Amino acid sequence: MLASARRVAALALLASVVLLGAPACGQRADTGMPSQAASDTDPGAIAFAVMTQFSRTVGPRPADSWGEIRAREFVFHAFQQYGYEPVLQEFIAEEAGKTLHSGNVIVLKPGESGETLVVGAHLDGVKGSAGALDNASGIGALIETAARLADMTTPYTVAFVAFGAEEPGLLGSQHYLEAMSGVERRAIRGMVNLDGVAGGEVLYAYGEEGKGSWLLGDLLTIADRLGIELATDTVLQVTPPVSRGVGYEVAGDHIPFAGRGIPVAGFVAAKADLMAARESFYPMNTRADTMATLRKEYPGQARRQLRDVVRVLEVALTSKLAKQ
Ligand SMILES: [Zn+2]
Repeated sequence: MLASARRVAALALLASVVLLGAPACGQRADTGMPSQAASDTDPGAIAFAVMTQFSRTVGPRPADSWGEIRAREFVFHAFQQYGYEPVLQEFIAEEAGKTLHSGNVIVLKPGESGETLVVGAHLDGVKGSAGALDNASGIGALIETAARLADMTTPYTVAFVAFGAEEPGLLGSQHYLEAMSGVERRAIRGMVNLDGVAGGEVLYAYGEEGKGSWLLGDLLTIADRLGIELATDTVLQVTPPVSRGVGYEVAGDHIPFAGRGIPVAGFVAAKADLMAARESFYPMNTRADTMATLRKEYPGQARRQLRDVVRVLEVALTSKLAKQ
């Protein structure tokens, strides 16, 4: 979720994911899971199927609701389908005088080094919304990226995290960081946030001014090499003390990371005119945030933007980055 000056703020479901990812013959017969066939599919295809299924069948999923529990189960099983062993990290948090019970779903993919890149997408949503753009799109990109990397060697350890309770105040990402040891936290080299990544007019990448900008720089360089157009705009950049933008407050699960000095970057699909306040992120955080709206407003864009995000991430997570 991105916000303007003020905060603007089931297994059957997985049938299509399984079909898209299903190999002719499973290499993981022991688990009954599909093999690496994700890499044989068109980039973005799995993400789009997940986005569609997640928004339509999980439906509204505000923090601490049955909908959020359904969302966690969906994500948990989707990771399992691609051979991962996800961990559910439940937590209780206080926000605005309310006690919330929520949880993160975490997959850790060990790399050649213990240095870790976190890829995150929140799984909750606002009340009454199917949350197609915000954030079934991010969950789709998260699952497909994990699926494509399942059998690849990565230079860094990758943590794929579906955060709970983002909308009430970034509670899942805060808990994720607080629950870590200092050693684990210091191993994090960067965090990429996937929030509202597909279904808008233009696909943007944002980052952090100053020391974090290398991560955005790497994403832009990779996109350029792949012939992918990624827009960027200073309006979206995270600036110290980590949430002030020019006219915008970029709120999302990357903020707690940036607040701890961890370089952050992210993708977001929005209108070309970013200065047009909350309209820039339409239909984010509204009841109109459905696949049907996205199809009508921006035909074909969700599928294309998911493809672009997944392709850039796949290269980024399998490359040595120019980290500082
Ligand atoms: Zn969001």
